[in-house]
Amino acid sequence: MSFESAALSQPYTWNMSASLIPPVHPLALSLAFTVALLLSLACKFWLTSRQVRHVARHRDAVPDAFAGTVPLSAHQKAADYTVARSRFGLLSLAFNTVVLLGWTLLGGLDSLNSAVLDATIGWGGMAYQLALLVAFSVIGALLDLPWELYNTFRIEQRFGFNKMTWKLYVADSLKGLAVGAIIGLPIAALILWLMGAAGTYWWLWAWGAWMGFNLLILVLYPTVIAPLFNKFEPLPDEGLKARVEGLMQRCGFAAKGLFVMDGSRRSAHGNAYFTGFGPAKRVVFFDTLLERLNGPEVEAVLAHELGHFKHKHVLKRMVTMFAISLAGFALLGWLSAQTGFYLAFSVRPNMAAPNDALALLLFMLVVPVFAFFFTPLASRMSRKDEFQADAYACAQASGADLAAALLKLHEDNAGTLTPDPVYARFYYSHPPASERLAALQNQP
Ligand SMILES: [Zn+2]
Repeated sequence: MSFESAALSQPYTWNMSASLIPPVHPLALSLAFTVALLLSLACKFWLTSRQVRHVARHRDAVPDAFAGTVPLSAHQKAADYTVARSRFGLLSLAFNTVVLLGWTLLGGLDSLNSAVLDATIGWGGMAYQLALLVAFSVIGALLDLPWELYNTFRIEQRFGFNKMTWKLYVADSLKGLAVGAIIGLPIAALILWLMGAAGTYWWLWAWGAWMGFNLLILVLYPTVIAPLFNKFEPLPDEGLKARVEGLMQRCGFAAKGLFVMDGSRRSAHGNAYFTGFGPAKRVVFFDTLLERLNGPEVEAVLAHELGHFKHKHVLKRMVTMFAISLAGFALLGWLSAQTGFYLAFSVRPNMAAPNDALALLLFMLVVPVFAFFFTPLASRMSRKDEFQADAYACAQASGADLAAALLKLHEDNAGTLTPDPVYARFYYSHPPASERLAALQNQP
């Protein structure tokens, strides 16, 4: 009996009713994956080397539009920071590609699965599957660790951005692990259970569960999870508070609170965000942001964030995310019932145990390779939203203050003023500073 027909005779996950669509041919799928992977690699290397060359070529002079506002030393620091991060990105890309090939075509996931199956004999289908997910995540985290450490304690440190101590790093990691387990394991168990028990249309149920989970996180993140990692204090500056409340009233927003977060514990990068939905909305300023910007500039930055809400960008992004995950679950529903899906990536489906965890892992490994090609589309949509939010900020606060704030934040984050245009078109979720400031100047 051939391997495929043996698997198909098992009652576990093989669903023959979905046979209207032609089955997945393993060789065709591994070929498509290989081609997509090579193409995306070539694309990433080409774009990043363009970026490095462009930034290095413009290192010696501040662009005309910024002469007088940006000192040469800041411009050169931004160039060096961009180049260092890009080079590091290419190295980690090469490493991650090897790891991905190891998991898939070279049979790594299959070997891990055999080991976990052996170790969990007698545990039952669910415990085996959760053990597989945990083992995979732990190995993945260990492989990532040196890269993360190098990024934080070498690159960020060298440019003066890292404020994290080793002690804080370890504490963060342990807390992150605990939160991940407490949140991740139940939702993983629920989805695995639905995959096994909810019949042909399990993916619809699983999608519903996933959406519910996401909404729950949206509520829990600002109120329960974020406070585990940072201190949030009510905005103490009465003058600024009155200014911000005035703006929110003008724009028709009711926030539950204005908070300052001690972002400076970890990083010198500044930020502000608006979080939650319904009556649980809150505004969070990083202390690093408040240190750098004056009152009118803070107001302009917040007006930009409110613009995202007024133009329904937040809702739009949520609906898009819901639709994409529905398509994703439907695709997973189809693929997970196909022997060819597993065989394409050198995984032998289980004969006597459910294959749902295997399908989930393979899906999460493989889909990003194809999804990469949608990056420019997502970036473009995001940049359009940013222009709209800027225009809103100009109408509700001062465009000149927003421009001043953007320049300061740009300098503090060592963002380059001279990105490669093609690279920026492809990756940038925010318009390059020159385009943004030009648009601000053209506002009425
Ligand atoms: Zn924005």
